[in-house]
Amino acid sequence: MVSDGARGLLGAYELGRTLGEGNFGKVKQARHRGSGGQFAVKIMERARVLSQRADEQICREIATLKLLAHPNVVRLHEVAASKTKIYMVLELVNGGELLDRIQAASEGKLPEQEARRLFQQLVDGVSYCHEKGVCHRDLKLENVLVDRKGNIKISDFGLSALPQHLGNDGLLHTTCGSPNYIAPEVLQNRGYDGSLSDIWSCGVILYVMLVGHLPFDDRNIVVLYQKIPEWLSPGARNLLRRILEPDPAERIAMAEIKAHPWFQEHYVPVLPPY
Ligand code: ADP
Ligand code: MG
Repeated sequence: MVSDGARGLLGAYELGRTLGEGNFGKVKQARHRGSGGQFAVKIMERARVLSQRADEQICREIATLKLLAHPNVVRLHEVAASKTKIYMVLELVNGGELLDRIQAASEGKLPEQEARRLFQQLVDGVSYCHEKGVCHRDLKLENVLVDRKGNIKISDFGLSALPQHLGNDGLLHTTCGSPNYIAPEVLQNRGYDGSLSDIWSCGVILYVMLVGHLPFDDRNIVVLYQKIPEWLSPGARNLLRRILEPDPAERIAMAEIKAHPWFQEHYVPVLPPY
């Protein structure tokens, strides 16, 4: 499944402070002894992993990250496993979660310019994943990290889907994600297009950046047009309305988001090669 040599890997890195705790273990800062480079190591306890999440899912997270190389997606450097643990050496993203950034902002929300800049990077990263056939399926403020320079790094691909996970109907069927960010069609158990449901989650993220709280609580996914505050700029309101469209067939597509006037302002796309 994953390469052996956890001992070698652990010898090569000096583990430091805990950066975060997830459902499956800890993420620690690590210094590569040879180069002095700083990394983040996600350490998953196999017992917990195996009881909570199939081995296949860890493989999926690793396989997915191996496919992706983009400035707005966290990079995987190496992987090792011991009998009890799996280690993923990741690019260190040292500015915290997007959630912390919003909570630390003066009014608990971001200025529109800043929200737009971060949203542009989020959309660049997510659309890149979609081009590679990867749907993230768990986009939320805790899984979007920010580096020291203020750049977005999408992380935590533990629930991601690849083309081989599509049903014969070309749709995804596993209901997953986080209640506050999950698109309505994912809850309907009729199959869904993972790119469109990722777009919905990006809309929830944009809403929180601009407004300072979630658009709806997890028990009450309602039509939320009336909840998009009047004081937002008309462009931001229009884009939010088009992303948070409950009917996925009517929802704005990635290319249309990128062409939207509000998105386009001060947009400097990252171009390959990355
Ligand atoms: P889980 O699958 O358990 O949610 P995550 O991959 O989301 O695990 O990691 C948990 C937390 O650890 C994140 O929310 C974040 O705070 C921190 N973290 C994860 N990856 C990195 C990284 N590459 N750099 C810095 N911190 C990270
Ligand atoms: Mg997470």
